Amino acid sequence: MTALKNFSFLARTLWRHPRMIRVHPALNIFFLRYIANFRIKNSAGHWTIHSHLPPLNHKAYGRFVDNHLLKRIDGPSHAQVGLTNACPQACAYCYNRERRGRAMDTETILRVVRELKEMGVSWLGLTGGEPLLSPDIARIIASVAADCAVKLFTTGSSLTVEKARELKQAGLFSVSVSLDHWRADIHDRNRGLPGAFATALQAIEIFKKTGGMQVGVSAVISREMIRSGQVEEFLEFLQGLGIDEAWLCEAKPAVAATWDQDLVISEAEHRQLAGIQDRYNRRAGMTVNYLGHFEGRDFFGCNAGHKMVYVDACGEVSPCVFTPMTFGNIRQRPLKEIFAAMKSHFPSADNCFINKNFPLIRDASRGRGFLDHAASLQVMDKAEFGPLSGFFRLYLRNKKGEKG
Ligand code: SF4
Repeated sequence: MTALKNFSFLARTLWRHPRMIRVHPALNIFFLRYIANFRIKNSAGHWTIHSHLPPLNHKAYGRFVDNHLLKRIDGPSHAQVGLTNACPQACAYCYNRERRGRAMDTETILRVVRELKEMGVSWLGLTGGEPLLSPDIARIIASVAADCAVKLFTTGSSLTVEKARELKQAGLFSVSVSLDHWRADIHDRNRGLPGAFATALQAIEIFKKTGGMQVGVSAVISREMIRSGQVEEFLEFLQGLGIDEAWLCEAKPAVAATWDQDLVISEAEHRQLAGIQDRYNRRAGMTVNYLGHFEGRDFFGCNAGHKMVYVDACGEVSPCVFTPMTFGNIRQRPLKEIFAAMKSHFPSADNCFINKNFPLIRDASRGRGFLDHAASLQVMDKAEFGPLSGFFRLYLRNKKGEKG
């Protein structure tokens, strides 16, 4: 039944984006094999595999096919932008906590998202700090949403019914509310704020009632949760919330407090999470989207600095949100140039750059937490990448991108 439904969505997608037929057959087959792990759904009008890919019926998907599968442009396909550093919560593992500087104003952010789109970005994540605290968030979304899939990562703080309507009207495709546990006391402790759990649940309800957006939860999964078998219990709780997607990401060694090999997920635990994802996705109900599966060696690998870029709220350009490094600031050098220079250091890799290379970052940091440009370049002299992922092996082998 799932295969039939997926087939029906894919046939209609081909009708909308006929250029897909010109993608090299090996890449098309690879995509079909990847998609078989998910049930394509119509989430509030969006034909969604999961929220890390543009919906199949969105112009952004057509741009993704054209730019990245046919023309094979050098630019990124995915980007995240920090809208503000302000946040009422204080998560111990927040990837933003060691980043400092003067925040970008709205006009600068609008320029950045426009340039990202021109560079080829078809999936844009808005983050922070708490991005809802940006008074211009709806304007920023509306500026790119017609042909770029925009996803919001939020704690839910400060959300109102009116704000949710504005975001929907601006064209937001997907929202992930952060939730780390089914127990309020544990979530509140992780987030450093009493009431954070209640705020998150209320935000989920508001987004669901508003409609028009895919509504999910993003959760940071610790090794402890995996080892104690709590992940499935947590997913049962999330299923009960009536959301469209659970976006899972293991805790990453992205800040000084987590630069500890004991906290980094093992290969066996990675496989365990991927197995849980696959089992859940055979059931009816919410999609489970484990980012490590997408970014694993069998599929798309780590795209940090290669097809993924992060511009933080102060304009620093990093390979992804979890890499505490900068390759330049958009106030000093054009974003396109910074990305090209950064990309020259980042071949696609078989799995997570930060999981593998955090000891180099720890040593280069000398207690500063976040690496400046010179220290970031130093790390790259010794960084390890491993072999290419399954997708990039095919992608680079069939470089012309044409059938044959
Ligand atoms: S470094 Fe890790 S978190 Fe960042 S893009 Fe690569 S796989 Fe994802």
